[in-house]
Amino acid sequence: MDMIDPFGRTITYLRVSVTDRCDFRCTYCMAEDMAFLPKRDLLSLEELDRLCTVFIEKGVRKLRLTGGEPLVRKNIMHLVRQLSRHLKSGALDELTLTTNGSQLARFAGELADAGVKRINVSVDTLDADKFHAITRWGNLAKVMEGIDAALAAGLKIKLNAVALKGFNDREMPELLRWAHGRGMDLTVIETMPMGEIDADRTDQYLPLSLLRTELERQFTLSDIAYKTGGPARYVEVKETGGRLGFITPMTHNFCESCNRVRLTCTGTLYMCLGQEDAADLRAPLRASEGNEQLASAIDEAIGRKPKGHDFIIDRRTSRPAVSRHMSVTGG
Ligand code: SAM
Repeated sequence: MDMIDPFGRTITYLRVSVTDRCDFRCTYCMAEDMAFLPKRDLLSLEELDRLCTVFIEKGVRKLRLTGGEPLVRKNIMHLVRQLSRHLKSGALDELTLTTNGSQLARFAGELADAGVKRINVSVDTLDADKFHAITRWGNLAKVMEGIDAALAAGLKIKLNAVALKGFNDREMPELLRWAHGRGMDLTVIETMPMGEIDADRTDQYLPLSLLRTELERQFTLSDIAYKTGGPARYVEVKETGGRLGFITPMTHNFCESCNRVRLTCTGTLYMCLGQEDAADLRAPLRASEGNEQLASAIDEAIGRKPKGHDFIIDRRTSRPAVSRHMSVTGG
């Protein structure tokens, strides 16, 4: 039953973009004026649950809900509670989500009650004005309330920050001290060329090798073997005692250990974040009440999982590597 791709990689991690809509418009992620997937194409929460369950039966041990902003999907807690049965049965090791934190104050308690133990919260800056500028619509105070509520509910938090040249590079030491001071890990991410945005990515792109060198002026970083099942490589920061992760899709791709596939809210399965090839699972899902057709469509898709991605950001390459935005496939 296991899902093993042509390169011998076993697929144990499913990320599900439960909506491509978001209450923020981060400048590196989306254009201000976005065309979203038509609502009529959306899978229902019951259909998403059925799809996730088939993936779990086929060997997925870790499930991440993402988006868009997962907590703006109507009734999302219904799906979380439904999926949590797989935690109770032991079929799933982890149910988690990635959120911008805007709705966390409202949902943190319920998430913890449903068995969610850890979440990722995306925060690129601690400066309220800069936060508003980068997210276009976001309110940092509300996100901070959400983080407080999540910590109070006992959720472990990993902060995600996209490293952006001239925007938050100088602020990273402060972000690191703040995160570690509150018992949160921090992961920095290289910006990826996904979807048309209003800005020029070459102006934003910061290779993390440069950021690491800069941080090493102030901090002692030691590589550690810590893994969360995702693509980050971690160091321990001696001065703070906390962990710092690096996600480097540009400077060092991590495809050889890829254990993931990504499902959109319309039932499209992407076998790689950085390639256009995809498989439609909505048709086999709706074709019959049994799951046989669905399971064989999944097997067929895994059988063509590509070796990896080749993202390029430079002045000569004006088009993004893939046309869809990160919010479609789910970050
Ligand atoms: N709305 C949720 C959030 O903000 O975390 C989940 C979806 S968001 C697309 C997931 C993550 O992808 C966020 O940390 C975001 O900063 C990151 N992201 C978005 N576009 C990106 C890009 N082009 N390159 C790298 N990371 C990106």
